[in-house]
Amino acid sequence: MQFIKQFFHNDCLLCDSRTQNNTELLCDLCRSDLDLYPLGTDLLYSYTSISSHIIHNAITGIAVVSNYQWPFEQWIPQMKFHNHINSAKLMGQMLNEHLANSLWPTIDLIMPMPIHSQRLLQRGYNQAELLCKFIDHSAHSKLSHALTRTKYTQPQTELNKIERKQNMKQAFACEDTVKGKTVLLVDDVITTGHTANAAAQELLNSGATAVYLAAVAIRKYN
Ligand SMILES: [Zn+2]
Repeated sequence: MQFIKQFFHNDCLLCDSRTQNNTELLCDLCRSDLDLYPLGTDLLYSYTSISSHIIHNAITGIAVVSNYQWPFEQWIPQMKFHNHINSAKLMGQMLNEHLANSLWPTIDLIMPMPIHSQRLLQRGYNQAELLCKFIDHSAHSKLSHALTRTKYTQPQTELNKIERKQNMKQAFACEDTVKGKTVLLVDDVITTGHTANAAAQELLNSGATAVYLAAVAIRKYN
């Protein structure tokens, strides 16, 4: 019976009540409780007090769903370390909603922020790739893995400002298939911006026209 129940409908990820059309992952009440950035807003232009604290000189636009707070501070680790598919699906759908409302030009390539092969081996999957799976199906043909992580880096949050910059030096490599393309980088969390910016810089160095960034959450870092 439990199996049949799970098969035919989803319960709300936050309150366990049945969702409206059985396919939604959040009920309307819980959804209305979330504190989200308005759909389609670009953090670089609409929230300069926040974006001025992150490194973004190689990035043309940033879409974020929420600040790193409840319930994203639960959902993101669930997705990242416990392969929680429904958390990834819900956050991927939320990102997709933002992108559908953005005023950005047409995106040619969508790229998950790559993780190093050693970390991939430890974790078994890349959480950014998981998010990309739930971004609009019509966009799937645009999914690209031209960008790779060549250096096993320490988590940025464990380092000071100077170390963080050093840590990201030559951390990425990119194929020249990005030449002349507008790229969307997808990640779970932005903290200092160093990682995303280094990735974007590598894409630009390889001939990409512009790099946009979409992340589920932004974490304020001191
Ligand atoms: Zn609910």
